[in-house]
Amino acid sequence: LTRQTLDKIKQDDQQVQAYLALNEEALATAKELDQTGIDPDSIWSGIPIAIKDNLVTTELPTTAASKMLTNFTSVYEATVVEKLKQAGAIIIGKTNLDEFAMGSSTEKSAFQTTHNPWKLTTAPGGSSGGSAATVAAGDVLASLGSDTGGSIRQPAAFTGVVGLKPTYGRVSRWGLIAFGSSFDQVGPLTRSVKDNAYLLNVIAGADEHDATSSQTEVPDYTAQLEQGVSGMRIAVSKEYLRSGVQPEVKQAVQNAIATYQKLGATVDEVDLPNAKYGIMAYYVLASAEASSNLERFDGIRYGFRAENAQDLDDVYVKTRSEGFGDEVKRRIMLGTFSLSSGSFDKYYKKAAQIRTMITDDFQRVFEKYDVLMGATAPTTAFPLNHESQDPTQMYLNDSFTIPVNLAGLPAMSIPAGFSEGLPIGMQLVGKPFDEATLYQAAYAFE
Ligand code: GLN
Repeated sequence: LTRQTLDKIKQDDQQVQAYLALNEEALATAKELDQTGIDPDSIWSGIPIAIKDNLVTTELPTTAASKMLTNFTSVYEATVVEKLKQAGAIIIGKTNLDEFAMGSSTEKSAFQTTHNPWKLTTAPGGSSGGSAATVAAGDVLASLGSDTGGSIRQPAAFTGVVGLKPTYGRVSRWGLIAFGSSFDQVGPLTRSVKDNAYLLNVIAGADEHDATSSQTEVPDYTAQLEQGVSGMRIAVSKEYLRSGVQPEVKQAVQNAIATYQKLGATVDEVDLPNAKYGIMAYYVLASAEASSNLERFDGIRYGFRAENAQDLDDVYVKTRSEGFGDEVKRRIMLGTFSLSSGSFDKYYKKAAQIRTMITDDFQRVFEKYDVLMGATAPTTAFPLNHESQDPTQMYLNDSFTIPVNLAGLPAMSIPAGFSEGLPIGMQLVGKPFDEATLYQAAYAFE
């Protein structure tokens, strides 16, 4: 299986370009496993899995798709990778992303453009575009991505796979290169809902290395799968009907409403009055956190260092000028500005207040409903090089996914039809730590 997977990746990747590094040692690891025998108690034993390249690994370099981390290999392993290895999974390679996970198309990678396997001239979404594309191409059953504002769910939608962003704190962030630390979560991308639940079973749980990881007990996420949705109370956010949403996407949500009603769920439309401020609040808060998190890339400690610097300040300035791409610089400037003394109250504090208001909106919905449903993204996969000159247009693509990160809730994207050969994704949002109900609802739909 490992050999076949490596062969298939090499073949597919000539066009898809999902991988930044392939693990040639994987074959040896698999052979070893052949000797010892696969672990009958672990469903992932011997199964190749791809890892987004902002999760640090000891066997393979980690770049976060940035020139800044050229030739960087971590001395320790991300907790999620460690857990997968313990479960016997084979780490097959590291996947492409937008630089430091900042973007929605994977075009912001410093190294290569990943193509959507459904139509190579379109984007796979981002920032976990490589992880989504390799699952969609049929190379691997599963991959890991990270989601700060939609980076698992939007690429899952664009490539027709299942992607889950767990509740904030459900999965350890140890070894995930930090972007917006109060938003970031690692999560699984798979072809089926069941596989997704199997993978969350492995990666979820408290971690002494991550103080924000939750002690909440980890259930068996496959336990509720077969229970159906009869009697389930599903809310639909009216947001999906607003202008700018592709008609076929609206239709897909309407079809899903009808399907759920047929399966015995009650479905009502609800308002999230403050969701429309989500993008604005997110770009202030996430950029503020990013500006602080990225301070560590100074040319001294990691990877890249610019040549011909005159003094220490020059090392910093030259390294950061040459090492970071434009999108990353834009975030650092935005974040530094909103944290500066003159603008803190005007921007950062306001954005934090909006964050609370949005969290309250969701809470009101979940007093009455089990699941909130809507579109994952306003459109299907857009063409590569599309609107790349206009960052705000790109930011708008995340309007349905971002409010969920502001509130720290679990959410997943599942395939819900096609438009002109391109997959449409539907988003299901759940109560904190209630991933099991999301899987239950998704499984019934699938
Ligand atoms: N597209 C959003 C951004 O650029 C979200 C990215 C993410 O979730 N990592 O910030």
